[in-house]
Amino acid sequence: MQQVEEIASVAPEGAVAELWEQALAVVKGELSELVFKTWFAVAEPLGMVGSDVIVAVPNAWGRDWLRNRYSGLLAAALSEVSGEQIGVRFVIRAPEDPSVKPLTKDVEPARNDDVLEIHETPVVIQPDQHSDAEPTRGAHEMSGLRSRYTFDRFVPGDSNQLAYACALAVAETPAYKYNPLFIYGGSGLGKTHLLQAIGHYISTYYPHLRIRYIDAHHMVDDFTDSIRSKSMESFRKRYRENDVLLVDDIQGLIAKKETQEEFFRTFKFLHDNHKQIVLTSDRPPYELETLNERLISRFNQGMMADINPPELETRVAILKKKVEAEPGIPVPEEVLTLIAERASGNVRELEGALLRVRAFAALRPVKRITIEDARDVLKGMFPERTVRQISIQTIQNEVCRYFNLSKDDLLGNKRSQNIVLPRQIAMYLSRELTELSLPRIGAEFGGKDHTTVIHANSKITKLLGEKREILNDVQTLTTAIRQKS
Ligand code: ADP
Ligand code: MG
Repeated sequence: MQQVEEIASVAPEGAVAELWEQALAVVKGELSELVFKTWFAVAEPLGMVGSDVIVAVPNAWGRDWLRNRYSGLLAAALSEVSGEQIGVRFVIRAPEDPSVKPLTKDVEPARNDDVLEIHETPVVIQPDQHSDAEPTRGAHEMSGLRSRYTFDRFVPGDSNQLAYACALAVAETPAYKYNPLFIYGGSGLGKTHLLQAIGHYISTYYPHLRIRYIDAHHMVDDFTDSIRSKSMESFRKRYRENDVLLVDDIQGLIAKKETQEEFFRTFKFLHDNHKQIVLTSDRPPYELETLNERLISRFNQGMMADINPPELETRVAILKKKVEAEPGIPVPEEVLTLIAERASGNVRELEGALLRVRAFAALRPVKRITIEDARDVLKGMFPERTVRQISIQTIQNEVCRYFNLSKDDLLGNKRSQNIVLPRQIAMYLSRELTELSLPRIGAEFGGKDHTTVIHANSKITKLLGEKREILNDVQTLTTAIRQKS
């Protein structure tokens, strides 16, 4: 890094260092402590070239991240403290020794009580060294990753900042520090989103790494099929040939002894070979009753991070981001705040409320959202001060009553339209109004597969924006169910 040394001699180090310290103090005030530590603590001013401060960071992905997100903020801060127009340029610092630490070495978890022992493996997977190349998408199979579940679309806040920072750290330096990373929290709080964001990020910046995202239920199905078809060899290969394995909702996987045993072997194989593993669960490991001791001890070598329901401010920020990302009927600020106030449970509920308010307006001749309309729509969804749990039986009973169906029909397998639609509405409402998992909902509907629930959910979501009757049905039913609960 010849270039770096030349730059360093251009300006007296002391003056730049002082300017840098002052600017950092300004930047620090603008960011959360965690973000600040993650990105700025490892950056170092080298000197000035023209009116630009040259900032060295340890690697290409840190440079890209700083350049894309924070160069404006940093330049403004430098200009403010110096009283002159100053820009920034990021360069990659030459490693002083071969065991250069990754960018995230100084991330300190915000809440120490959640941190179990951190196991540092000496292996650092290096990102692609073509440092000036634009990030490219990996050629490996990335199916199963939803395109919108990226870090860009995730709103960090107090409720999720530990999980967010850890996910980011893992994405930047896979298999280095937090391995395994275990993210846990209630339904609809962003676990799947973060898990997939890790997949997207790694596939962009480490295109040579093999990544597999899998929902634990699919892994169980895959396992069962492989036993049946005597193809365990290829099952093992499928899971073991990855550099990064992302397993969602592992509570489903460890419920059965056999699948847990197989999972443990896969896990051990990957972990022993310094491959990155990230897991999510609806509960922390110590509340997973059937969890094997050996797995617990492996999990304890990594990192645990919880996600909690977002506070009002974060909820508003999430809604704003969503409205920006999905242009359509504009939603006034006061309506966003109202939605965020009412839909306080989890993010899925929040998104559901926004969807309904927008759907309602879309069906109006004047495509506009007023606060009164929003209030009406939300009243049905969140009557004031209801904290009681809604049971799936109440939902089923109300749907049967409303559509004049028998429970047997609702839970059965008949495919006629007058039964299928109410069944799908009931599944949709179960997803929206209860905390139950997809497989649990499937089970409560006469033992159906969780994919049936997913299908019902997306079908009704789509219809809500297209057919006024469906929106009416769903609104009326929600009110009735809330009243009964
Ligand atoms: P979980 O897996 O915990 O049940 P998901 O990851 O499926 O939750 O999140 C539910 C919905 O909420 C998704 O559409 C996701 O994009 C969104 N979401 C959750 N948390 C956030 C956040 N902090 N910022 C933006 N969107 C979020
Ligand atoms: Mg999930």
